[in-house]
Amino acid sequence: MVLIYKRIKAHHQWHREAAAALEQQRSARDGVISAQRAGPQSAGAAGAGSAASVGGPEPYARAGWAGAFAGAGPDGQAAKVISRAPAQVVEEGVSRTAVIEVRGLRKSYGSVEAVAGIDLEVYAGEVFAFLGPNGAGKTTTVEILEGFRQRTAGDVSVLGADPAKAGRGWRARIGVVLQEAEPEAELTAGECLSMYAGYYARPRPVAETLELVGLSNHRATRCGRMSGGQRRRLDVALALIGDPELIFLDEPTTGFDPAARQSAWGVIAGLRDLGKTIFLTTHYMEEAEELADRIAVLAAGRIVAQGTPATLGGRDTEASVISFTLPPGVPVTDLPPAVADRVTRTAGGHLEAEATSPGPLLAELGSWAEAHHLDLPDLQVHRHTLEDVYLQLTRESR
Ligand code: ATP
Repeated sequence: MVLIYKRIKAHHQWHREAAAALEQQRSARDGVISAQRAGPQSAGAAGAGSAASVGGPEPYARAGWAGAFAGAGPDGQAAKVISRAPAQVVEEGVSRTAVIEVRGLRKSYGSVEAVAGIDLEVYAGEVFAFLGPNGAGKTTTVEILEGFRQRTAGDVSVLGADPAKAGRGWRARIGVVLQEAEPEAELTAGECLSMYAGYYARPRPVAETLELVGLSNHRATRCGRMSGGQRRRLDVALALIGDPELIFLDEPTTGFDPAARQSAWGVIAGLRDLGKTIFLTTHYMEEAEELADRIAVLAAGRIVAQGTPATLGGRDTEASVISFTLPPGVPVTDLPPAVADRVTRTAGGHLEAEATSPGPLLAELGSWAEAHHLDLPDLQVHRHTLEDVYLQLTRESR
């Protein structure tokens, strides 16, 4: 529902607020394409020329064009860049630079309080995952951090500036991959990237950017002919072409097959290795576990937990779970009493026992199985998965 709403919203804004600017963008694009067809050197010159003339509106960018991030502020005017050095935060004796600082952030849409007072920091060079159920307020928060939405209350600093007031220079330091992007169907991947490279003072080379996202072999493929996964990679490439310091990835692997997702994770990990800061929203817990240095969980507009994937929600200190299946015909009552008293049966027919210190229970179970010449081939000891913790944390908001 929210997804459908977003699609309508993007189109609505795009048509209503950005029609005039779209024309301007199209003229710039046509200039770039003609120049590209005339040869690579003139394409570069046309790109650079269009950078000076384009004041890209944010609804256009929200409809999927990273290039417009080199454009003007929310009101369509080139806003003043606020220059304040990002804060240095000392935690546990380690000094870290806070790239994003949020204090008491609130956003209401009429009577709906989408963001109800959140505090967070994101540090330079980390992957920060922002998790939460549908409608929790993630996109609203991200749009405020990107400078696309005005907040109702609170203090926000992103790369040392207030996103509501920051301008062209600040936008060029940020890359965005939206939930739904619509690259121009008739352009090739290379043309598309060249066009947007022209909006930035120091773009990343097109060939290097294509390579980074695994699209080197698709430079000449028209965007309209790309598979969903390839288009998503192109979205990432568009966000990277300006060589941003901070990248917002809004559900970047939704709709990917497992192989494409693995490869996208490789790309994202590679960006962190390049020293980029990444703000990631995702509904895939394994994605957060694989990529995130830190996680915040949002539910009904409030942050209900923050931590590393290993510590979120006290995951590192909670009881372990021993799980196994008994061989056919062996009843639970045959187990040694210390085990039988603690086991519960799961919906899948496994037996589970929780223990803060699982060693003695495991030893008892092992000795019993050996004494009775029984095998327990699916015996496992594990802590709750990130998904278990997440579901528990967000249960009350549903
Ligand atoms: P999802 O995971 O589905 O993308 P989300 O966490 O990004 O959800 P938001 O899109 O930020 O959630 O929405 C938070 C709440 O604000 C929801 O109740 C949504 O219906 C409402 N909302 C979002 N944008 C608007 C808007 N422009 N006008 C009115 N209500 C809105």
